[in-house]
Amino acid sequence: MKPILELRKINFSYHTPAGETRALSDITLALAPGEFASVVGPSGCGKSTLLSLIAGLIKPESGEILLNGSPLTENSSNIGYMLQHDHLFEWRSVYRNVLLGLEIRGKLDAASKKKASQMLEQYGLGQFANVRPSQLSGGMRQRAALIRTLILDPELLLLDEPFSALDYQTRLTVSDDIGQIIRRSGKTALLVTHDLSEAVSLADRVFVLSRRPATVSRIVQVTFPPKSNTPLQRRNAPEFKNYFNEIWKELNRHE
Ligand code: ADP
Ligand code: MG
Repeated sequence: MKPILELRKINFSYHTPAGETRALSDITLALAPGEFASVVGPSGCGKSTLLSLIAGLIKPESGEILLNGSPLTENSSNIGYMLQHDHLFEWRSVYRNVLLGLEIRGKLDAASKKKASQMLEQYGLGQFANVRPSQLSGGMRQRAALIRTLILDPELLLLDEPFSALDYQTRLTVSDDIGQIIRRSGKTALLVTHDLSEAVSLADRVFVLSRRPATVSRIVQVTFPPKSNTPLQRRNAPEFKNYFNEIWKELNRHE
């Protein structure tokens, strides 16, 4: 199948008065439509930089990024981006937060408003539509942020450590919940995380990055039997620890 996203030999460095920081070195990877992939790597290795490049926020020094076979243009409106901090605005209701992206893009009309209400219902936030974000739990806030992203119908979802602000217990249920919503939406997703268990519980493939400047040091295909394929079921399946150990070893290979 034709990849939805392709990175070919991407190199990137930051230049500051203090000097040059090489962040990415020869990154090559591709995502198939509908695939859920995860990127893991040591802290500071260049994971967020990688997502910023794919989102079109910064430009590679060399190499190519293709979206549906065409070079990434200035207009990366087909890409949804979700960050650790949910960026919900307290001065807006949950419903009006969900509408924000549509408003900015000038796509707010009766049909899109109806869709927002439907999605809030569908994802269990219907009765919270008119409250302020501070009245939601951490998990509900992440759902609201995800709805705000999904309503723009992105072809590709980029998630940068979206669960890391949550406490451990909440994180398990929220990553299970959000993971399943993304699966059901059929979107192609690229999730950056430093949590190996999270990567194994959610992804079809895990890209393991080396220390900075990041290179793709290993690609691990993750498959579970259909009967134990939700994130929480995966965590309890016998295969789980094998994948975890394989990635763990790879990350520690250069220590
Ligand atoms: P990760 O997300 O894997 O923790 P980042 O992609 O955020 O890593 O950062 C990779 C490296 O680039 C780090 O050494 C970081 O300090 C540096 N870096 C990130 N953003 C900037 C910036 N805007 N200017 C200069 N250096 C940066
Ligand atoms: Mg980061």
